[in-house]
Amino acid sequence: MANPTGWKPSVEKESGGAGGPARPGTGGAVRGLAYEEKLIFEHAGGDRSGVSLPAPTGAWDPAREIPAGLLRGEVEGLPSLAELDVVRHFTRLSVWNHGIDTGFYPLGSCTMKYNPKSSEALARLPGFAAAHPLLPAEMCQGSLELMYRLERALSEISGFAGTTIAPAAGAHGELCGLMMIRAYHVARGNARKKVLIPDTAHGTNPASAAFNGYRTVEVKSGPDGRLHPDAVRAVMDEDVAAIMITNPNTLGVFESDIAAIAEVVHAKGGLVYGDGANLNALLGVARPGDMGFDVMQFNLHKTFATPHGGGGPGSGPVAVKEALLPFLPLPVVVREGAAYRLVADPAERPRTVGRLREFHGNFGMMVRAWALIRELGPEGLRRSAELAVLNANYVRARLQDVYHLPYATDSLHEVVFTDKLQKAAGVSTMDVAKALIDEGFHPPTVYFPLVVAGALMIEPTETESKETLDAFVEGMRAIAARAAADPDALHAAPVKPVRARLDETRAARKPVLRWTPGMALE
Ligand SMILES: *Cc1c(COP(=O)(O)O)cnc(C)c1O
Repeated sequence: MANPTGWKPSVEKESGGAGGPARPGTGGAVRGLAYEEKLIFEHAGGDRSGVSLPAPTGAWDPAREIPAGLLRGEVEGLPSLAELDVVRHFTRLSVWNHGIDTGFYPLGSCTMKYNPKSSEALARLPGFAAAHPLLPAEMCQGSLELMYRLERALSEISGFAGTTIAPAAGAHGELCGLMMIRAYHVARGNARKKVLIPDTAHGTNPASAAFNGYRTVEVKSGPDGRLHPDAVRAVMDEDVAAIMITNPNTLGVFESDIAAIAEVVHAKGGLVYGDGANLNALLGVARPGDMGFDVMQFNLHKTFATPHGGGGPGSGPVAVKEALLPFLPLPVVVREGAAYRLVADPAERPRTVGRLREFHGNFGMMVRAWALIRELGPEGLRRSAELAVLNANYVRARLQDVYHLPYATDSLHEVVFTDKLQKAAGVSTMDVAKALIDEGFHPPTVYFPLVVAGALMIEPTETESKETLDAFVEGMRAIAARAAADPDALHAAPVKPVRARLDETRAARKPVLRWTPGMALE
């Protein structure tokens, strides 16, 4: 008989055969049932229903009660399912996903550290979670105080004069930072034309510069993966509004000439923008404000363990030096005696770049970040950076005999390998990444940064144990051994997930977002 709810167990999955070793970091061996799942439209439900409301009595005519423009027409193929059918469908789909609560997630540049549940619990306190953004200040003093204290803490941690917590993500913070840079130059009589960006930069950097009407000029990094003052001097002139630098950069390498580079830029009246996405390597150890940066965005969802990914809310506060304070976006939280107040009226801050979005930013992220900062304290923050760097260097030391290391320079919080040693046998970075899924790990970032051919960028973060790192290293080493012994088999990896290699280009360019009855999906 056909299975009425349309699911079937897919093949049984094993990692090391019966009795195979439990794998730390994945909660045991990778085996068990994984369900094949139909689309919800394909579930044959008949005419079940998830609600038990009585049928309308009397002559009830929706067309009379509801304006025509709000009435929905028939939806072809709309499934009629019971609550249990729907709950099981979505719960089974949810276990196809991999998150930081499931297992190791070494996605370089993204800082996928564990998000502690204590921060979650505090963000869910009704006084925070249910506070309406239009509450008058006297009714939300606690929330305003938290915003004020977080702003002060971030300024102190990074070495800047003030911080806006309004931006919604790292890229939004970059946009905001460059808006302030433009406003600063405009106030001095000339907006300038160009922004310098090293070739190792994240793609959001040139995008943010272009959004602010600047032309981007690429600066080449040296053979050691670093930016050199001479390379900056060669392209620096009085048309340059700013340079955008990530430190440590996306190779995981510290820009040790940062002070000299800042001098070159400042000497011609330019400003130094810091992409602070990699702040995890520096927390409590060094402050970007002390290195010559004038503006820097934070990624709370990276460095301060607020959840990220899946389009969920991020938070990208921007810290500035004294000279840029007047341009901060609205609202600004101020303290007056013992009371806190939001300045939202441009009349009070005439040089502000204005509002970036509705209301005050992603407040739940602010609560989580503040909770983490208070829980760890200055010593704990420093320790987390030290452990993040230690973990990346441990992975580097244990893999550098089997994967090619393009830069011999010391790594900070992440390490970049390439597929050069495997390439000879026809095995690519993509094959290695896909094979890692069969080993029970989320793949690292691949083919980024762009200056490294076949890059595999691994960022373990400080929250992983030595056992997890060892298991990951063993998985990576096993793949290197397979690449040498049986390279063709790796092209078929992964074989254990419900779906194996998807056509990623088609999925991105031609996503099927609307199902119609009879549609062929494979
Ligand atoms: C993640 C990241 C960004 C962008 O941050 P989002 O929050 O994803 O917008 C910018 N630069 C670097 C180096 C990053 O790693």
